[in-house]
Amino acid sequence: MDLKKFSDRIYYLESEEKSDSPVLGYVRGEVFSLMVDAGTGKAHVERFMSALEDNGLTEPVFSVVTHHHWDHSFGMASLEAITIGCKDCAKKLKALEEIEWSEEGLAYAIGAGLVPAFCEKHIRMAYPNLADIEVFAPDMVFEGEMVVDLGGCTAVIRQIPSPHGRDCIVVYVPEEKLLFTGDGLSAGLVGNDWIDDSEEVVKLQKLLRNLDFETCITGHGEPMTKFEVLADLAERIN
Ligand SMILES: [Zn+2]
Repeated sequence: MDLKKFSDRIYYLESEEKSDSPVLGYVRGEVFSLMVDAGTGKAHVERFMSALEDNGLTEPVFSVVTHHHWDHSFGMASLEAITIGCKDCAKKLKALEEIEWSEEGLAYAIGAGLVPAFCEKHIRMAYPNLADIEVFAPDMVFEGEMVVDLGGCTAVIRQIPSPHGRDCIVVYVPEEKLLFTGDGLSAGLVGNDWIDDSEEVVKLQKLLRNLDFETCITGHGEPMTKFEVLADLAERIN
């Protein structure tokens, strides 16, 4: 996993398939910097922070979680940054925060649909001792849209219609025509199955078509152009 530079303002740590670690984004303003997603846990956060240091970048002041899934949110407990999430995401993370993590706790989280069964093996890889899991709900909670002026560039944090879940948000940086989408473009993960939702895809397609961006950095893959994103969504509508 390397820290990739998209521009002077935008960096990201690449995702990794083996551990299911998502991309961690970084937006550098003149006053504040903002991290996109919080990662799988302490080790992932430490990897990100040391990559920032190696590149002469300061630790982020804010961290925005794109949705509640463990790989994007469990790192929050290891962050000093002020964390931000939408109301729906905060509700799920509060429920996860209350779990006492053990075999029973994990089984409960999977049964309650708070953790997709698909994620179990990756969680066990990251946490050989389940009691090490610590979940924090976000410090700041918003509904709809929140705009953070980072100094010289803006983070527009917006809840989106998404087949992946009701709590998905994107981080849009208009000055860079760039969008961090987390898993918002992906199908929903129910148990072990990926289930798409045409209606949500249509709504998402409409929103993205009208948004002035050129590049999209997704949670688990390579960056995509706007054209590629819209073509992928169009193929999924039936
Ligand atoms: Zn997800």
